[in-house]
Amino acid sequence: MDRPTFNERAAYDDSYDPRLAPRYAEIATFMRAPLRIDLQGVDVGIAGVPFDGGVTVRGGARHGPRALREQSTMMRGIHHVFRFDPFELVSVADVGDVRFNSLFDHDGAEDDIRVFFERLQAAGVTGLAAGGDHSITFAILQALRSPVPLGLVHLDAHCDTWGPLHGTAFHHGSPFRRAVEAGLVDPARTVQIGMRGAQNSSEGWDFCAQTGMRVLFAEEVDALGVAGVVAEARRIVGEGPAYLSLDIDVLDPAWAPGTGTPEMGGLSMREVQGIVRGMRGLRLAGADVVEVAPPFDPAGVTALAGATLMYELLCLLAEARTLRS
Ligand code: MN
Ligand code: MN
Repeated sequence: MDRPTFNERAAYDDSYDPRLAPRYAEIATFMRAPLRIDLQGVDVGIAGVPFDGGVTVRGGARHGPRALREQSTMMRGIHHVFRFDPFELVSVADVGDVRFNSLFDHDGAEDDIRVFFERLQAAGVTGLAAGGDHSITFAILQALRSPVPLGLVHLDAHCDTWGPLHGTAFHHGSPFRRAVEAGLVDPARTVQIGMRGAQNSSEGWDFCAQTGMRVLFAEEVDALGVAGVVAEARRIVGEGPAYLSLDIDVLDPAWAPGTGTPEMGGLSMREVQGIVRGMRGLRLAGADVVEVAPPFDPAGVTALAGATLMYELLCLLAEARTLRS
């Protein structure tokens, strides 16, 4: 069947296909997917969470969604390893950004994020979130309302299991401590990958050890290699429902300088791509890419890395949906 020409399209729906519109043209939605604020007919919804009120050091992740949208226009359809096109498997849309009623109040902002993702959940939409700082993930996990605690694949330089800081539990170093304490995440089915860097106290690492979370520090990633990390992660997470959260600072700052708390000695893009691809077939209930901070990303390379990893995650989420149905 002949493909329609650009001018014959009644809607914007096919704009992700660069055979119809060049990738630099039109409005920069995520992956050039149609914008579907109403969620009608959407299977996988890509959402921006432009919030960095939980940052402890360098701000700027609030600008992440817009930079990720821009760089994601570079993405294409057919994955070169998987040999499928996620846009052909499921209906993919940009579902807009979280709308904040309480931007300057932590608890209120967290409610706004949770309510937005609850709406996706109620509509049967699998969410792929673009942060924003890592504090947003706790609100997303709340919204998923999983009947059992979720398994977790967490790629990051940091465990993000610290307790309250400067008088509040709400910050980007605490989401997974809060998620375990709230019963949203099963620590026995949690694997954290890529940790490194000195800390002012061992509180976060201690929490992981005490609750039984499996932490693969960067040195163990080296020792195991990508295939070994994948095997260990799959062993830990198992067959149950799971969530994948990717802090862009898991990458070495050579790959991702534009982030709030960079840590040298990190993973390469190929290692992270290999680990993410190795999660194919997990029962993923959702995923996110967080901590892209465009003010520290003058060449746009961090946002390009983030958008590329969002595309990898889109493939996993699209396939997980088809396996489920
Ligand atoms: Mn981090
Ligand atoms: Mn983090």
